[in-house]
Amino acid sequence: MPEYPEYIDTHSHLNFENFDIDREEIIAKLKKEGVWTITVGTSVADSRQAIALAEKHEHLFATVGIHPTHEWTDDEFAMIDQLSAHKKVVAIGECGLDFFRGPATGGPVTEESKMRQGQAFARHIEIALKYDKPLMIHCRAAYEEAHSIISAFKTDHKLGARLRGNMHFFAGSPEVAKKFLDLDFTLSFAGPITFARDYDEVIKNTPLESLLSETDSPFASPTPFRGKRNQPIYVKEIVKKIAEIRGQDLEIVQKTLVLNAKKAFGLS
Ligand SMILES: [Zn+2]
Repeated sequence: MPEYPEYIDTHSHLNFENFDIDREEIIAKLKKEGVWTITVGTSVADSRQAIALAEKHEHLFATVGIHPTHEWTDDEFAMIDQLSAHKKVVAIGECGLDFFRGPATGGPVTEESKMRQGQAFARHIEIALKYDKPLMIHCRAAYEEAHSIISAFKTDHKLGARLRGNMHFFAGSPEVAKKFLDLDFTLSFAGPITFARDYDEVIKNTPLESLLSETDSPFASPTPFRGKRNQPIYVKEIVKKIAEIRGQDLEIVQKTLVLNAKKAFGLS
């Protein structure tokens, strides 16, 4: 395995069934091309699968967590806590708040479901602090609420100063971006930046050291693969676009994004 990967896709779901037919083939290709990826858990079951993949492949890492749109139990959090100690678990999540999509079980986002999401987010934060690992945050239509939960932990928890993380698939305004950068969080971007211009201003105005590349595969394929299943190798298109939007040398951007990911998640 190359000591310095060419690219790091910081958020993918190779554990999802979309990859059942050719997962090992895809993983072998990543290794050949020097691409590392973090396989993100969204439930206890697929967090376990993410760990199993990371145990088997040096160039894969894992996160464990329960997606904000999923229901949860105390027992499940006890299991997430246990899994978090694993050395290839490099972040806790994806966790956070999604006030847009509503519960995976169907129905609208109610005040009660918002409260349940807030409780689950706090549980993830406790685990992240306990194991001194960063958060992988999914946030939609709830940036203000997520920011205030994180800020409260930062100031009130005895280990709060250690709290750090990444805002995955960031889609907030430049003002919102600044608020999370001020908390020492990173922002990662995926496929939509290749075809929608809504992200340009934030990508341009964020220090390069605070940006990360991701695919969120199998979702949200970048141009020129739109409409097809996304995969971690397409992270190359994201990096290319970030360099283009910023008007910076591709090689510098590529190298810096790799270093950023290694630093943010302690990858080696
Ligand atoms: Zn995801």
